[in-house]
Amino acid sequence: MKEFLLKAGTVIVGNGETLSDVSLLIRGERIVDVGAGLSADVSAVKMDYSDRVVMPGVIDTHIHVCFDDTSTNPAEVKKFSDEYLAIRGAEFAERILQHGVTTIGDAASRGDVSLAVRQAIENGIIRGPRMLVCGRMITITGGQDKDFRQNEADGPDNVRRATREEIARGVDFIKLLATGAISSAKTESINAHFSKEEMQAAVEEAHKVGKRVHAHAYGDTGMENAVRAGVDVLVHGHPMTRRIVDLMMKHKTLLMPTLVTYYESFQHHGEGLLPEHMIRKEKELFPLIEKGFREAVKGGIRIVLGSDSGLPYTPFGKSSMEELELMVRLGGMSEMDAIVAGTLNAAKALNIDAHVGTLEPGKSADLLVLAPDKNPLRDLSILQDSNSVERVILKGRSVVER
Ligand SMILES: [Zn+2]
Repeated sequence: MKEFLLKAGTVIVGNGETLSDVSLLIRGERIVDVGAGLSADVSAVKMDYSDRVVMPGVIDTHIHVCFDDTSTNPAEVKKFSDEYLAIRGAEFAERILQHGVTTIGDAASRGDVSLAVRQAIENGIIRGPRMLVCGRMITITGGQDKDFRQNEADGPDNVRRATREEIARGVDFIKLLATGAISSAKTESINAHFSKEEMQAAVEEAHKVGKRVHAHAYGDTGMENAVRAGVDVLVHGHPMTRRIVDLMMKHKTLLMPTLVTYYESFQHHGEGLLPEHMIRKEKELFPLIEKGFREAVKGGIRIVLGSDSGLPYTPFGKSSMEELELMVRLGGMSEMDAIVAGTLNAAKALNIDAHVGTLEPGKSADLLVLAPDKNPLRDLSILQDSNSVERVILKGRSVVER
């Protein structure tokens, strides 16, 4: 089996620690050892990055391959066939990898689109990150615009049926639409949709087979229902309050604030290209996001990277990295904590932390070699320029080199 011995000046492990002047021994897809003075087989490829920072590949748990990041209206997706969306989505996946994102979670797509893109990556037909999918979002009847063709279910038994259906289709995690949505023309984001009992049924079914449940939620009632139902990840979670923070701490719920999508969208409201209902809902919500998110960070909630890339003004690849910077700038997190949100915590949110997310023996060799003098612990914004990432290694193979 092919061996690499990669010497690094600084290794950001992904769990909050750094190591200096160590080597990573990679055999096949895995890291087999990390430490000083390691020796490798004579045939091993030796790479000397003793003046560089090496960090885990970034994990973005929330992207949508169905949506076009250059469009200002998510509803434009109605115009296209699933086949077209899958081919287009394949290009988006390749683009994400170029930025150093080595694992993505597709957080709802129409029909079988995300499953098709995942299969094309796994079969080596296209190049892309490791991809995990939730398949279709599970929503109440009328909870999302019909054109997105999500999995509608009403009442605990029916939600159980929908959850089993998505699991049977081969999804990696379950996504619930606990409340209305900003991108939906027909619902108000902060209105609660699913009851606690309905979401509990989904959590039971998903946990039986080791899958995580992510719940999209805005507003106090919907967030409380989701957390009390035992979902693993609260997605969006705005406006956050002290009461919900305490409840999340009690239930050990992770928070995925998707800051970048609101932040960027808000900067572009003046252009008048977004649908009117999105502008109105974002204007109501945006001023409350920062204060609530700071409360969550202060309260000790574990934060997860999810960018919502594909939505308007949220480009694939760059947005994953901008989300990390906003965690620091808006939320007061340290650079190190933001990196952990995009590595170890993100792996936990997808239940892959046993083999992905940190640079430790036994883990998948997913790592980034940064360009000279680039250190995200000093300045996280450098990651938004893909030229800062000189080499991307995924499952032990060099997939991007600059
Ligand atoms: Zn989303």
